[in-house]
Parts: sequence; structure tokens; C-alpha cells
Amino acid sequence: MENIGIMGGTFDPIHLGHLALAEAVRDELDLDKVIFVPTGEPPHKDNENLGSGEDRFYMTVLACKGNPYFEVSRIELDREGITYSVDTVKALKELYPADTKFYFILGADSLMELENWREPKTLMSLCSFTAVGRPGFKGKKVESQIKKLREKYKADIVYVEGIRLEISSTDIRTKIASGKSVRYIIPESISEYIENKGLYGFKPEFYPEMGVFKKKLKKELKPGRYIHTLGVAEEAVKLAEIFGEDKHKAYTAGLLHDCAKNFDTKRTFKFCEEYKVALDNILREQPDLIHSFLGAAVAEHEYGIKDGDTLNAIRYHTTGRADMSRLEEIVYLADMTEPNRTFYEGLDKIRELSYHNLKEAVAEALKQTINFNREKGRIVHPLSLEAFEFYKQFLREEII
Ligand code: ATP
Ligand code: MG
Repeated sequence: MENIGIMGGTFDPIHLGHLALAEAVRDELDLDKVIFVPTGEPPHKDNENLGSGEDRFYMTVLACKGNPYFEVSRIELDREGITYSVDTVKALKELYPADTKFYFILGADSLMELENWREPKTLMSLCSFTAVGRPGFKGKKVESQIKKLREKYKADIVYVEGIRLEISSTDIRTKIASGKSVRYIIPESISEYIENKGLYGFKPEFYPEMGVFKKKLKKELKPGRYIHTLGVAEEAVKLAEIFGEDKHKAYTAGLLHDCAKNFDTKRTFKFCEEYKVALDNILREQPDLIHSFLGAAVAEHEYGIKDGDTLNAIRYHTTGRADMSRLEEIVYLADMTEPNRTFYEGLDKIRELSYHNLKEAVAEALKQTINFNREKGRIVHPLSLEAFEFYKQFLREEII
């Protein structure tokens, strides 16, 4: 007589919580094997956002590969329409000798929901269940739920205290989409699969060599400034993609545009001298503007950037200038519209324009900046004025 575990799940993607759960139950109940059953279209989940069945299947296969006790079944994936566990258990029972004992493995959250599954009474008469604790579910609640199901449905439920891993597929998807690491939470083979297929909005680290720059910038910049910098780099890449500009240059310029921003006054003037950054009266009066010009020099001397266009994009990112190159326009705009930027009146307009027409967006951004600085009583740098003179031709009249 064989004892078999059934581990149902969407596995979107499969993670160490699932694997540890299945392994703990197998070990505790001395199961002969555990069959992982990725769901087809589960009735209780938002199917629209569900990862493709084939991807979920392959990931499950990959994850189970090293464990001789683990098997993966396509039984639900190959069934048409909405799939119910009760049908799955029936179908599996037909494939095995009559005296085979099946344990349906459940995390605590699923145990709480069991009664809402299709034909709970039949389901609970067909097989046994093992419930395993999951962070967020109190022992007492789980205990009373088990008691209730035993009384109401004569369910056979074994409680197994697995290792509580606070991992969920939902969390993993969110992490991946926001570029966070999921290392040590899902098997490495699954990470590779997700990266190769670009699942869950995975954003590749475009330019791994930028790691060195990032390390230095993290030290040089205040935390908020560093976050802003990453935002500008990403936004610049987005614009580069739309307008066919070199993404690598866009990323580099975005990353380095503020590299001299948090230098203190002493260091600023010292480096201006050393790198021969000319300081005119306006810059002396408005030292806030120096970081762009100095930034280009620092990018060249300390980060080894040689490309003139990239350096200019850094140099003119604050003031702008007339007839900028496309890369300059992109970095100028990305600085004003990157997603982490605190909101200012007019931001949405510039951002919206930037996705359709770079030059018009630059004109609008210059207009807003010049007005803003005038209102604050600050001197507007002649480069910005010249820039506006040039770019205003691209401003379209509002169509009413
Ligand atoms: P999602 O966040 O998309 O709901 P999930 O991480 O809950 O995903 P499912 O595929 O829904 O994963 O879960 C399959 C089974 O594994 C369920 O019975 C669930 O209770 C259980 N399970 C998932 N993660 C854990 C965990 N960290 N600890 C214990 N049980 C878990
Ligand atoms: Mg779940």
C-alpha cells in the first residue's frame, strides 16, 4: 500500500515555502511520493493575472527535479475549463491501486478555505488532508478549524508542524516586478527561468558593469538622491526605447547626472579648479547649478566616461541649452519626470508629452522651470533662456 501526497497549487511561481511544506509532510508521514499538481484555471483566483500554465508547469518540474520523491502532474493543466480539486482527486485515484492512501497537502490559509471548495463533503470523503502552519495563521484558529471539519465532514486531517517560511508567490511577483532580489526564496533554476522568459515584469539588470558606478554613487549621494538617480536612469532608458536612442548611454548619463550633487562647498570649488570647470558669476551666485557642469567633469575623470554626448547630457541636465541632442533632451526630461520625483504642478503634463514628443516636452519643461525660478526671484541661467528661445517653436497651441 502506498501513501501519496497531493500538493496542489497555482505555483505562480513555485517557491521554497511550497517545497519545504511538501518535504516536511513527506518526511513526517513517510509518504512514498508527493505529486505536485499545478492548477489549470483555479476557480478562486483571478485568472486574468495568472501566469501561463506551461510556465507554471515547467517551473514546478524544474523545482522538483532534485527530489526523487517529488513528481509533477499535468492532470489539471490538461483538463478543459475550471478545475476543481474534487475532480483531480477522483482522477488520481483511478490511476492507482484501490488501497492507495492519498493526503491532500494544505497550507493553513487553504485549510481555512477548504469548506468553500467545490463539493467539500465529497472531497473530504475521498482523501485525507494534512494541514501545515503558515505565518499569519494562529495555531488556535487552525486547531479549531481542524476540529470543525472533523466533526462536520468526518474529515481525516493530520496536522504537521512544518518550518514556517513567510514566503508567498504574491510577494515574489511583487518583488520581481519592482526589481528586488528573490534569491534564496525561490530555487536558482526558477530565477533563471523567470529571467530568461522575462516573467512577472522581470527587469534585467541591463548593464551589470554599472555595479561599480552604483557602489560609488551610493557612497557619494544622500539616500534620496541615490533613489532619484536610479529613477532617472530607468526613465531615460524608457525614453531611449521610445525614441530609438542608445539605451546604454541613456542609462549611464541618467545614473551619473547628479554624481557631483552632494559634494560640499569646499570639495565643489576644489574640484572645479582641478577639473577646470569655469565658474561665471551666475554659477557663483547660484552654486546649485554647478553640479551639472562639475558632474560632467567628474563623470569623465572619476567614472571614465569618454563619450561626448553622454558628458553633455550630464553637463546640461539642469539648465538645458538650445538645440540639444536627443540624448541631452532625454536626460533633461527624465530628471524632471522620473517616477520617484516628488510631485509638482505640471509634472504630469511634461511626463505625458515626453512619451510623445521630446521637443515639445522640453519646451514645456523649460517654460515651467523658467517661470518657477522667476517666481522664486532666482536668476535664470542664460543657457535656459536661449534654450527656451529655441524650443518654444515646438510648443503647440492648446487645442480647445
Ligand atoms: P499566491 O500568493 O499566489 O496565493 P501562494 O504562495 O499562496 O501563492 P499557492 O500556489 O496559492 O501559493 O499555494 C499552494 C499551496 O501551498 C497552498 O495550500 C498554500 O497554503 C501552500 N503554501 C504556499 N506557501 C506556503 C508557505 N510559505 N508556508 C506554508 N504553506 C504554503
Ligand atoms: Mg495562496
